[in-house]
Amino acid sequence: MDFRLSEDQLMFKKMFADFCTKEIRPRGEHIDQAEEPPVELLQKAVDQGFWAALVPEELEGCGLDTYTYMLMLEELGRADLSTALILSVHNSLVVKPLLEHGTEEQREKYLEALAFGEMLGAFALTEAGAGSDAAALSMEAQRNGEGYVLNGTKIWVTNGAQAGLILVFARAPEGITAFLVEAETPGLTVGYREKTLGLRGAACNTLYFEQVAVPVGNRLGEEGQGLKIALQALDLSRLGMAALALGAAERSLEEAVKFSMEHIQFSVPIAQKQIIQNYIADAKAQIEALRCLVTHTAWLADTGQEFSQEASITKLFGARAATQVADRMLQVHGGYGYMKEYAIERYYRDCRALEIAEGTNQIQQFLIAKDIYQAEGLDIRP
Ligand SMILES: Cc1cc2nc3c(=O)[nH]c(=O)nc-3n(C[C@H](O)[C@H](O)[C@H](O)COP(=O)(O)OP(=O)(O)OC[C@H]3O[C@@H](n4cnc5c(N)ncnc54)[C@H](O)[C@@H]3O)c2cc1C
Repeated sequence: MDFRLSEDQLMFKKMFADFCTKEIRPRGEHIDQAEEPPVELLQKAVDQGFWAALVPEELEGCGLDTYTYMLMLEELGRADLSTALILSVHNSLVVKPLLEHGTEEQREKYLEALAFGEMLGAFALTEAGAGSDAAALSMEAQRNGEGYVLNGTKIWVTNGAQAGLILVFARAPEGITAFLVEAETPGLTVGYREKTLGLRGAACNTLYFEQVAVPVGNRLGEEGQGLKIALQALDLSRLGMAALALGAAERSLEEAVKFSMEHIQFSVPIAQKQIIQNYIADAKAQIEALRCLVTHTAWLADTGQEFSQEASITKLFGARAATQVADRMLQVHGGYGYMKEYAIERYYRDCRALEIAEGTNQIQQFLIAKDIYQAEGLDIRP
């Protein structure tokens, strides 16, 4: 396997890195403190292809392969995790399933708006009684003439209040089904905005659906295929979460290296102390191991191979690595790391969500174990 980036990949990486460094990174602290999605910044990101990452070139998108898309997410994770999550949900969980399962009409109707900043995407799967057990969802989609009527409540929908298009999962007569619901549809209302430990710039809202009429033309895939569509989208987004974790861990390390070279105790920079060097070296080792996992899993995806188990392994390892690295890099900062003026405080809070969102660590462990036992002929249950 050749690990060198192609000319195109290098060009995209540089373009994304330039925007992330110049535009997103300096605003990270403000985004966190304002606790609002960075609407203007997101619009600026449209011109740099961040909304159209996966849209094919023939439709004026970037047409990125999975690996190059991971390079984009890594740069975003390094610059600001809230902005990164907003764009990752949009691309991995809305644009990608639309590309893979959408009809010609659906793609024509929505792709351009999603790619060029008119519609942000959101993904509404979780309910109060259906988190890890997504199959237990209770939102109803009743058939009504040529369409469906949706009733129920979704919680913690990232981009829920800002989205123009929401991929919603509901229980239809033939089983769980995916629907493309426009934000302006009558009966759909945006509810409570959660107060969160971290990722405060990526708003999570409750969405209420009361007699929301959805035409049959807005059903994504066949009736009863919704869970399959959701899980397939989650494979890519879990790999994407690992790429965000990679960027976040790199940023945490960078902050700690800088601090340890400037901060003097016992008359020398603390970087001279072996325990600090060990923390730094261990963080680097975790980061490089994670990079290999992300690269390998993206390669499986780009070569058309099954990558579901690898996505779980990569997300599990990546989320843990990012939280551990942030924790130890905060320790390198001592009391300064606990103060809001240092970026590591924010990264420590932001990274924690990576171990929960888009499938908890425990669910990734179950999925990995399930494949292992399945190969031995034993069916295990969550
Ligand atoms: C920041 C953030 C953003 C989010 N954005 C979205 C979004 O945009 N759209 C959306 O639909 N959802 C979103 N979610 C929801 C997220 O996907 C769920 O939080 C996640 O799937 C876990 O579900 P839960 O929180 O209900 O936990 P639960 O499933 O209730 O789990 C509680 C605990 O029990 C453990 N557990 C559960 N079942 C098992 C089992 N079988 N074996 C072992 N342990 C188990 C879990 O690992 C966890 O530790 C978001 C969550 C967060 C934190």
